[in-house]
Amino acid sequence: MDLDIVFLGTSGSVPTARRGLAGTLVRRGGDRILFDCGEGTQRQLLRSSVGLVELHEIFLTHYHADHYLGLPGMLKTFSLRGRELPLKVYGPPGLVELFGVLRRIFGKLSYDVDLQELAPGNALERGDHRIFAFAVEHGVGANGYCIVENPRPGRFDLETARSLGVPQGPLFGKLQSGETVELPDGVRVSPEQVLGPPRPGRKVVLTGDTRPALEVLEVAREADLLVHEATFAAEEQARADETLHSSSTGAAELAKAAGVKMLALTHLSNRYFGPEIAREARAIFPGTVVPRDFDIIDVRFPERGGPRLVKGGALGRREEADAHGSDGSTGGGEDSRGGRGDAGDPELGRDPVGARGGGRPASDPAR
Ligand SMILES: [Zn+2]
Ligand SMILES: [Zn+2]
Repeated sequence: MDLDIVFLGTSGSVPTARRGLAGTLVRRGGDRILFDCGEGTQRQLLRSSVGLVELHEIFLTHYHADHYLGLPGMLKTFSLRGRELPLKVYGPPGLVELFGVLRRIFGKLSYDVDLQELAPGNALERGDHRIFAFAVEHGVGANGYCIVENPRPGRFDLETARSLGVPQGPLFGKLQSGETVELPDGVRVSPEQVLGPPRPGRKVVLTGDTRPALEVLEVAREADLLVHEATFAAEEQARADETLHSSSTGAAELAKAAGVKMLALTHLSNRYFGPEIAREARAIFPGTVVPRDFDIIDVRFPERGGPRLVKGGALGRREEADAHGSDGSTGGGEDSRGGRGDAGDPELGRDPVGARGGGRPASDPAR
């Protein structure tokens, strides 16, 4: 089953020309789940290859403005399209109160919005996986979310099955799904005889805003992917501590201690471009990436190579064409998709907006 993460907004507190505010889409099989909905998220979806799909579920990490201001507009758009499908919104306690205020903005909708507050530890069981909320440390009621798949059956040993006399066909399937089968001659074959040890499912952890926290470390142990905030570079560690955010190095230390396979840093302050954050984090945890908007992380099963960053993987066709036309880096065909530079590419350091905005925002309640 496919599982990937689409980064729609990777900036913290305020947007930049290149980075939108918090919005992360998790796609698993046919599910499309949005985590946080910063201002501009509906347009980021429209610009992406995903499109503004009829989301069924949205999870909010906390109620700082940079994480939910995109909701009223998006909910309104759904209504103008005549949506009838109900929408489920999850968030830490305070969600119902927040919507009391937001309703005055979006008014009456053509569909129901079902609100469910999740306290740390609350889990949603989904058959083959679960999503649970965990506590983070951000000074306000805030949830991180963990998506964890059930263990998969072990690898089917064809040779052994054949040597035990199991005929190819439906009995294979039964054994694979954990059933003991009886052969025509009365011999019973149990799944343990033909299946290898169960293989773990995948685990993806999204922290939202937080300082490095013990709870996150525990939840993230051995995760395939940890999406952690890194608002600041190491030079601003004191500021990170003071505002209950993380620095590049703080997040990297945690990822290393948790033994995750990949660390994706997001929620960057507008004074950073990405490469410096990536450089600092990689010195501690080499498996770090700093996705840009419209990058994807494809969370493959370990035997298929594990998680990998697909740069610009969610760029809409048109955006892709525009990007190629304006930056002179055409000519690469398929390859030019990867030619946008990555977090370690110094070219990114020339982001004109970031370069101009050298200072931090004067006052920012979202921090
Ligand atoms: Zn934030
Ligand atoms: Zn926040």
